[in-house]
Formats: sequence, C-alpha cells, structure tokens
Amino acid sequence: MATCALFVSFDAPAWGPRGHQLVASLADDALTPQARGEVERLLADDPGHDLAGIASWADELREHDPDLGKRSARWHYVNIAEHDCRYDAARDCPGGDCVVEAIRAQTAILADRTQPLEARRQALKFVVHFVGDIHQPAHAGYGHDRGGNQFQINLYGKGSNLHQLWDSGLINTRGLDTARYLERLRKLPEPALSSPPGLLAPVADSAHEWAEHSCTIVVQPGFYPPRAKIDGDYVQAWRPVAETQLRLGGAHLAAVLNQALGEP
Ligand SMILES: [Zn+2]
Repeated sequence: MATCALFVSFDAPAWGPRGHQLVASLADDALTPQARGEVERLLADDPGHDLAGIASWADELREHDPDLGKRSARWHYVNIAEHDCRYDAARDCPGGDCVVEAIRAQTAILADRTQPLEARRQALKFVVHFVGDIHQPAHAGYGHDRGGNQFQINLYGKGSNLHQLWDSGLINTRGLDTARYLERLRKLPEPALSSPPGLLAPVADSAHEWAEHSCTIVVQPGFYPPRAKIDGDYVQAWRPVAETQLRLGGAHLAAVLNQALGEP
C-alpha cells in the first residue's frame, strides 16, 4: 500500500495497488479483440505484461524515473470540492496538470498511431492508472486537506487518514485476495456509463464528468466522519460506494481503450 503524501513534492497514489489492479482487470474483461491485440502488442516487452500488471506503474515512478514522477505528480488528482464539484479547466487544471487533462492528453498519445511505440506504451500505463485514480473519490476532493490526507481517522483501533482509507482501507476490510475481490466485483450490476461514447467524440472528453461524480461522493454528508474514530458503520455505509466506483472505473477504462485502440 502506497502512502499518499500530496503535500510533499510528488507521490500521489489513489487506490492502493489492489484497487488499481481491480479497475484494470475489470476493463480487461470488456476489451474488444482489436483493443486487446493492441494492448498485447504494446506490452509485449514490458515487465508488467498486462493491464493489471502496469496499473500501479505511475505510482512507482519515484523509484524508477524521478524526473517523470515529478513532472506527472499533479496528474493523479484534481481538487474541485471547494467549487461545488464543478470542474473549470482554467481554474482547476493550470497547465493541463491534473487528472482530467492528463487522461485526455495521454489517451490522445495512445490513440495516435504515428507516435513511437514506446511513447504509446507509456501513455497506456498512464491512462490505465489515471482512470483508476479519477474514480477514487478523494482524488477529486478538497485541496485544503490534500484530498483527505490530512484528515486523521482511526478504524478498529488503527490510525490512518481518510484518503488512505479510501485507497485501500475500506476494500481491505473484505478480507478477500485480489482474485476473489475481482469475482465479487464482476457480479455487481453493469454500471451505466456517465456518458455513452458517441461515434466521434473521444470517450476521454468525459473525464471531467468522472471527476465531478467522484467529487459529489466526497461532499455527501458522512463521507467526512464527525469523529476520527470510526467503526463498522462507516464501512457498511461507504464500502459499497467504493466498490461501485471500482466497477465504474473499469467500465470507463474499457470504453477509453476500446476507442483509442480500435479502428485507427
Ligand atoms: Zn495515482
């Protein structure tokens, strides 16, 4: 589990590695044969091999590519809860450095057959990760507490913070390994896509809606518990929301990849 520290220079993971793997595996289920073929081609020489295997790469950049890690540090989140969950690119994403514009920009690189294979491979890794991030509600939350990183909580006697709880703490309470969790999520009803992909409009153009939806979860009463000490009631109330978000992330990721890697 990665520690979220938005307040330091970089390293801003959302879902822990498992959450990202789940989103990626759910998307994998729904790839068209053509998109799957492109994914396999792009990842043929990559140690990650498949979507689940590359899903947390962007959170590990500090170790293997610190410069890129710094450059992409702001691409993992967007703070819009202070603004009634309405995304405004000029205000909320200066320089295109936020998760909404990062998804759009990296998807454009991924879809561009004139780009070198290595650039498209890197874009694929970013897209898989950031579509996961944008569905972790605390990554479209408040700036004043760094997306809940500075809101301390205590669950079953264990200290954490609200961001971390949503990264991994909530889903870890199921006590399931990743394979079993995936089975569980597959049984959830097919989520309605926030914006059905049009024939011509890039699916990634809807990314601001995904952030706005995540934000509406953050501002719901009770998302921020009244006391630091929380228990099973919080888990019962909010874990289903986290799981629906994982499912939705998988569906949106599949839609993005099927379009970007479909007919050129
Ligand atoms: Zn991240």
